[in-house]
Amino acid sequence: MKYWQTLLAQGYNQIETLQDLFGFPPEDIPALQEIQEQYPVFVNPYYLSLIDRADPEDPIKKMSIPSLNELASIGSFDTSGEQSNTVLPGLQHKYRETVLILSTNQCAMYCRHCFRKRLVGLSVNEICSYIGDMADYIRSHEEISNVLISGGDAFMNSNETIRQYLSLLCGIPHLDLIRFGTRTPVVLPQRITSDPELAALLKDYREKKQIFVITQFNHPNEITRESTAAVEMLLSLGIPVRNQTVLLKGVNDDSHVLGLLLKKLTGIGVIPYYIFQCRPAKGVMNHFQVPLSDGYEIVRNAMQMQNGQGKSCRFILSHVTGKIEILGLLEDGSMLFKYHQAKDTANAGRIFTKKLSEGQCWV
Ligand code: SF4
Repeated sequence: MKYWQTLLAQGYNQIETLQDLFGFPPEDIPALQEIQEQYPVFVNPYYLSLIDRADPEDPIKKMSIPSLNELASIGSFDTSGEQSNTVLPGLQHKYRETVLILSTNQCAMYCRHCFRKRLVGLSVNEICSYIGDMADYIRSHEEISNVLISGGDAFMNSNETIRQYLSLLCGIPHLDLIRFGTRTPVVLPQRITSDPELAALLKDYREKKQIFVITQFNHPNEITRESTAAVEMLLSLGIPVRNQTVLLKGVNDDSHVLGLLLKKLTGIGVIPYYIFQCRPAKGVMNHFQVPLSDGYEIVRNAMQMQNGQGKSCRFILSHVTGKIEILGLLEDGSMLFKYHQAKDTANAGRIFTKKLSEGQCWV
């Protein structure tokens, strides 16, 4: 067994075992067990080791250990209209040039803020089961220039499955690049640093097609010796690493914390390109969303701490209609938005304003 597989095998997926470490109040246990039934719990020993257990407000704990707030019934399970963009099981085609593959429902840690809570660790109904059919679809749509292999976590697939994806996709001439959506550099960097077979296959296919890794660092405490080594290894293979941070209440809703995160990321060679407004997902929005006007101020101040690389990052709301950039607040209190990517091409680049109500978190 490889070291990363050992770490997964030693992971915690039961409230009872986490209880020994975190001492949940006994009266909370039934509700936490109910949450575990609804939204699987899993944290591996590496990510768990980043938690300061003496700190009840620890940001890593908030992202990985369930809380009673997840029981709130408000929100939706499909905030970006993923169902309506699905063209084959596990294949979404929302934007003309991009397709998204849900390659697995497994992750190296189940983030409590995940907007795909409806499927991670649960149903495989939305997961790609016929890679060949998916490749045929992409082959027959010449407008598609790039593929995002996501999940779940794309690097939770076996090396053999990753090879199968790369071998099929690298043979499609109109694809410019292939992206892997994976949080393993952050939550299980050993998946990359302790598996020479994965490194070798990425290197082989990188020579045929440009490969990117898209990851999600949300807090400076996630930038460790181990995660830095994983990033360095990917960069040494010629694979750029780009970051999408989610703005999360109690984790990074502080301009100094967010600014430090972006600064540290550019310092280790990771390009931060999106900060996402947390989506109104069920089990998530109640405790993680930050009001849009506060979020804008946090991001604006965090940007003041950046060099050119960090400043190129955009504050984005991933909407049913497209990726909407949050540009700023006008003097009359309304917010200025711009379609960065639009499902309906008629909206591409469109700028619009909206009056926000007190505490409004979504449009
Ligand atoms: S790694 Fe990604 S898909 Fe998996 S739980 Fe975290 S946010 Fe969701």
